Formats: sequence, C-alpha cells, structure tokens
Amino acid sequence: MSSGISTWVFAEELEGKPSDGTLELISKARTFGDVSVFYVGAGSDEAWNALGGHGATAVHHLDPGDTLPSGPAAHALAALVTDADVVLFGAGNTDRDVAGRVAAKLGRPVVSNALDVTVDGGIAVHSEILGGTLGITTAITAEKPALVVTRPKAFTAEPTGGSTPPIEVVGLPDAGRANAASVIERHVEASDGPSLEEASVIVSGGRGLGAADKFEMIHELARLLGGAAGSTRAVVDAGWVPYSYQVGQTGKTVKPSVYIACGISGAMQHIVGMKGSATIIAINKDPDAPIFALADLGIVGDVHNVVPQLIEALKARS
Ligand SMILES: Cc1cc2nc3c(=O)[nH]c(=O)nc-3n(C[C@H](O)[C@H](O)[C@H](O)COP(=O)(O)OP(=O)(O)OC[C@H]3O[C@@H](n4cnc5c(N)ncnc54)[C@H](O)[C@@H]3O)c2cc1C
Repeated sequence: MSSGISTWVFAEELEGKPSDGTLELISKARTFGDVSVFYVGAGSDEAWNALGGHGATAVHHLDPGDTLPSGPAAHALAALVTDADVVLFGAGNTDRDVAGRVAAKLGRPVVSNALDVTVDGGIAVHSEILGGTLGITTAITAEKPALVVTRPKAFTAEPTGGSTPPIEVVGLPDAGRANAASVIERHVEASDGPSLEEASVIVSGGRGLGAADKFEMIHELARLLGGAAGSTRAVVDAGWVPYSYQVGQTGKTVKPSVYIACGISGAMQHIVGMKGSATIIAINKDPDAPIFALADLGIVGDVHNVVPQLIEALKARS
C-alpha cells in the first residue's frame, strides 16, 4: 500500500537502456508512493517507456556525454532531492560513487547493502552481516533524505503498464574539477550467452575442477543448458577465469532458477551470492562439503565423471 513517501531512484543507463537493477528499484519504490528517477545517460523513448512502465512518475534526465558522470550527477542530484524522503541507489560503481558524494554534500549518512527498505513508522533498512548469517535492521533517524544503497536482486522488477512520465532535462552542472574527468573508452565483454545476472540457469565451477583447462566443461554445460558460467573466487584468484565470473560476497549476486555448483565447497562468502537461487544442485566428491547443506539436489561424485556424463546426456537429447 502506498505510504505517500517521496522516493528518488538513481539510474545509470547501461548499453542504451535502463538496467534491470533500475527497474527493480522503481518497482520497490512505487510501493511507497511517487517515484522520481534521476536518469544518467543518453536517454531514448524506449528508456522512458521502460521507466514509466515500471512505475516512475517523473524522470530527471542528465546526459553527461563523455564526462565521467559521478561528479556532475552527484552535484545535480544533491540539489534536487532536498525534499525527498528516500533516495535509492543500486550497487554499481557509479551508484556507490554518487551516493557517497551526495552524502558528503548533504551531510547525511548512507546505509548500504540493503536487502529491503520499509517506511511504515519510520524509514528502516534491512540487511545481512557476517556472510549472511545475521539479519539486522537499521532505523534511519537522520534528517531526510535517507540515502540507501541496495544489494543486486534485492527486489523484483514488475511492470505496471504505466505510461511515459514527464521528462525534465537537467543541464550538466559545474561540479568544478570533477567535470574535467572524461570517459575515454568503453569495453563490453563479449559473450555468446546470457549474462550471469540475467541467466535462468548458472553452472559454476570451483577449485575442485583441478585445472584451468577443465573450466571448458563448465562453459559447455552452461551452453547446452542455455545458461551462463560462474565461478568461485578461488578460481578467479587462480587466474582460470576473469573476475566477471565471480559469484559471492565480493562478486555478483545471482538468483537463477537453477544453480549448479561443480567442485565448490560452499564457503559462506560464496553462498551469500547464490543462496537466492530457486533450485541449487551441487556436485562434490566430499559428502560433508557445506554446499550440500544448502543444495536441493546433491551428487556425491567426481566432477570429472559427472559433468561429462551430463554433457553427453544433453547432447544425446538435442
Ligand atoms: C573477504 C572475503 C571475500 C570473499 N569473497 C568471495 C566471493 O565473492 N566468492 C567466493 O566464491 N569466494 C569468496 N571468498 C573466498 C571463500 O572464502 C572461499 O575460499 C572460496 O569460495 C572457495 O572456493 P572453492 O569452493 O572453489 O574452493 P574450495 O573451498 O577449495 O573447495 C573445493 C571443493 O571442491 C571439492 N572437490 C575437489 N576435487 C573434486 C572433484 N574432483 N570432484 C568434485 N568435487 C571436488 C572439494 O571437496 C571442495 O569441497 C572470499 C573470502 C574472503 C576472506
């Protein structure tokens, strides 16, 4: 039910459109009342439709061009949100940079790692600490606006079928020396399948694979299932795959329909990034591996036997 709270959502355009995270934040924010989006990027009719279609009631659009966006975005946002109750940020680099700068400009605290926000009887942020073993609630008693940085996938994006909201253009403010920093190159990592964040099936490999070249079977199984490949930090640290594969506390948070953990022990720091998966399947040769405590389906076996057999079975079906 709407509480009449004025909420702003910080949104950075990604690959020409609002990110899934932005649509998730708007879907949450509209349960409080009106939602103003501060949108940083080139913008397009498609973007405005997506924002309105998820419940945005107003959009303030800053196109930074090639200027590094955080400095001017924070400058403009801080001036706009003085009457807001809550400002929500995602966990992206620019989001966190802007949240910190706005906090410094307004003299407000930032509460980060939010898994939920409630506004009835005061603004409160719910999060987890100690690797997800302890839930805590932080009541924000500081003067508004409350600045909150949320965890990825904390909320679900749900369209409302709403119409395109009014768009107000925000000129590039003079943020002093911060305006002098430019983006000189953008790099989009090549991928022939869904991204880790979007995949409904994720096959993740851990140190139990034994060697970098064995990761190829993780890629192949993920490909055959139409999913994405992920990994533990141990595998990233060993240089077998890039950091973009890492799931966990210091990597990505994922919530696929199916998560297949191959040769992964189930360390707390890995689990916090994938425990929201609908079905977890673990393959590990150690029957006492902690991952089995979380798994819906466990296979005690050697990944070098089990994964190739799964690959063969899937190939035989296609
Ligand atoms: C501050 C901090 C942040 C961290 N952040 C992250 C993070 O974001 N993500 C993350 O993943 N980790 C993170 N870690 C590291 C984490 O603590 C673990 O070290 C890591 O997750 C272990 O990775 P692993 O399961 O691949 O390796 P291991 O713990 O070594 O487990 C390997 C598993 O493979 C099994 N195995 C071995 N051989 C086979 C075989 N042939 N067939 C089947 N199973 C086999 C073993 O029984 C074992 O259970 C972090 C740690 C710290 C301190």
